[in-house]
This record gives sequence, C-alpha cells and structure tokens, in this order.
Amino acid sequence: MNNEQILGLLNPLIALVFAVTFFVFWWKYKDRSYILGIAFAYLMHGTGFLISHLAADVDGPVHALGTNILFSIGTISIIWAACYRKKLDVSLSLLMLLATLSTVALIYVQISPVGFNARLFITNTSYGFMFAIGACALFRSTSAGAIEKVLFTTFALTALQFWIRPIMTIDLVGLIDHTAYRDSVYFSVLNVTMALLALMLAVSLIVACMSDIMSDMRNRTENDSLTGLKIRRVFEEEAEKLFAEAKNSPLPMCMVMADIDHFKQVNDNYGHQIGDNAIAEFGKLLKDMSRESDVSGRVGGEEFCVLLWNSNISSARIFAENIRAIFAQTDIKGMPKGYFLTASFGIAEALAGETYSDLFKRADAALYEAKGAGRDRVKCAVVDSENLVTTETAVAWS
Ligand code: GH3
Ligand code: MG
Ligand code: MG
Repeated sequence: MNNEQILGLLNPLIALVFAVTFFVFWWKYKDRSYILGIAFAYLMHGTGFLISHLAADVDGPVHALGTNILFSIGTISIIWAACYRKKLDVSLSLLMLLATLSTVALIYVQISPVGFNARLFITNTSYGFMFAIGACALFRSTSAGAIEKVLFTTFALTALQFWIRPIMTIDLVGLIDHTAYRDSVYFSVLNVTMALLALMLAVSLIVACMSDIMSDMRNRTENDSLTGLKIRRVFEEEAEKLFAEAKNSPLPMCMVMADIDHFKQVNDNYGHQIGDNAIAEFGKLLKDMSRESDVSGRVGGEEFCVLLWNSNISSARIFAENIRAIFAQTDIKGMPKGYFLTASFGIAEALAGETYSDLFKRADAALYEAKGAGRDRVKCAVVDSENLVTTETAVAWS
C-alpha cells in the first residue's frame, strides 16, 4: 500500500467513525430525528469512500455510479438534517433532481468516449450545487447564533471547494488518467480537503446537537411540565431582568396576576387529573395570548403571572379581559359539557422607581380584590390623585 492508498482510507474511516458517533447520540436522544439523518449521511459517505478506494476498476460502473449514488444520498441526508434541525424549508425534490441528473450524465459518460475527467466535473459540480442549496436554506437561520453561522459557513465552503478544487487541481497537474487515479495529485488533494471538511462539518454538527440537547434540558428544568410556562424562580429572574431594562425605557409595563376560581372544588368534585387539565388549558391560553416580549409563568398551583412589556393599564386590561372571557367558555377535557371554569385577574402598571416585588404586591392586592368582589373579573390597581394606591371598581366585560 503506498501513501496515497493509505490516505484514501482516511475519509471512509472518518465518515464511519462519525456515523457510529451520531448513531449513538441519536440512540440516547431519539426524539431528535435529525441526528439519525446525520448518522445515515456519514454511513453513506463512508461506504461511498470505501467503494471509491477499493473498487477494482476505477473507470467501471460500480466506482462511477455506485459512489455517486451513495454520495448523493449522503449529501441530501446531511442537508435535510441540518435544515430540519432548525425547521427550515429545503427543496428535497430539487436535490433529488440534481442527483438524478448527475447519475444520468454519468451513465452517458460510461457509454460514450467523453473521458474520465468529465465524470469528476459532473459529480463535483452536482455536489457543489447541492451544498449551495443547503447553504441558502441555512442562511435564514444565521441570526439565531454562532453555531448556525458556523454550519452555514461550512456548507458554503464545501460548495465552493466542490466547484473550485477540480478546476484548480486539473489546471495545475493536467488531465487525470483513470489507471493512475488513486496515485494522482487530484486524489490526494480530494482526500485531504474532504477529510478537513468532514471534520469541520462533524464538529459543528456535534456542537449543534449538544447545544440542542442542553437547551432541551434547560427547558425541562426552567419550564413547568404541565403548562410549558416558566416556573416561579425563572419567571422572577426574567421579570427582574425586564425590570432592569425598563429603567432605561419610557415604555410602560404591566403585571397581570391570575388565579382560577374555586379550584379546590374542581379537584374535590372531578379529581386531580381533571384539575391538571384545567391548569394546562389555562396555561396554553396564557401562552397563546402573550407576545414574545412578555414574560409569563406559573407562579403557584393555579396561579399565573404575566409581565407585559410596552403595555399600559388599558391594554393590559384588554389582555386580561380577553383571557377571562375565552377561559369562561373553554371546555376542559374530562369535565361535563357546558360546565365552565372562571378565573380572576389583578393588574398593576409599574410606577417610576417601583421594584418588581412592589408591583407584584399591588397586582396581587388587585387580584385579592377581584376575588372578594365575586370572582370572574378583572381588577386594576390604580394610583389616585393623592398617590394612594387603590383598586378600581370591578370590570367584567362580556
Ligand atoms: P379561589 O377562588 O379563592 O381561588 O378558590 P380556590 O379553591 O381556587 O382556592 P385556592 O386558589 O387557594 O386553591 C388552590 C388549589 O389548587 C389547592 C390545591 O389543591 C390545588 N392545586 C395546586 N396545585 C395543583 C396542581 O398542580 N394540580 C391540581 N389538580 N391542583 C392543584
Ligand atoms: Mg384559586
Ligand atoms: Mg390559588
């Protein structure tokens, strides 16, 4: 075995090691199907490189068509996986069309005297276009973070090298004779470039997978499993952060507190599970109605809190009234048809210099007033002309 032939084993080995690594990763985190897509892609590439290295006749159909089919499937899989990870649309039919066109072109090269070098250009150009399509799709996610930028760059570099490398190498060393293919400079450059890109891609994908898994774990510890809303500690931390930011902003901010009415009775009459369904339904409603800039959390058993950014007391009241009205007509799974629950709300708008806990106390006091005034209503904490904090008369819009 000469040096080039040993070099030729580099890529199959790298690809197969990564195929196993990603498969083991997926085995542990099966809900992330894109990791299996990456493992499959590396398996296809590894097998392709193995055939490329071991097939007896470099100019024969097994080498020419077999490797192209395996590399094309592998390339489509890795593009799908990288895009699916970020829920990005990528045209699989366009990728398949490119793979089919290159295979048809290769069949033509096999049966015509066009020559071995045409084959290298067809395959490289086709993979280049595939990675370029992937890079275009990934470009839309580059604002999401450093990992997305690295993935996009790796895809774009891979596309470029597929277009530039064959031209440069053949320009420098001349056309390649298929009988000396594995000993050619082209073959060495191909192996080194592909090994480097495979490593770069695999490392960025491993980092991407680990970051996704860690963010899943963070979500599980920071969000309440029943409603998906933030648990109290995290809600308070984020609300304090928003408060700090709001100090430098003239925009108003409101706190809305909510508590489901007569909830003990729900548990007593229908059981804890049905009670849980009601909490989940209320949490979903709160999440659907909140904006990205708001902070919402489940701060107690059936108590919720939303910090509304850039919202004055009037818009906060509309927000709470909408939730109140919708919840009062929401079917709860497991409860008799036509039997609805209600909730009470307390609202307070942040005053200049007020702390988070002061605002919390005022919103809580308004909620207490809403309960005392008969429930199923929204109460607003207002500051009167003498700066006395009181609560506004009950408002229950229907
Ligand atoms: P009020 O109208 O005054 O709010 O009356 P209430 O019965 O709702 O009183 P309260 O808010 O004090 O009741 C809270 C009840 O919520 C007590 C507790 O058994 C129940 N609870 C707390 N956490 C959960 C939970 O995760 N699931 C269920 N099913 N019940 C819970
Ligand atoms: Mg309650
Ligand atoms: Mg309560």
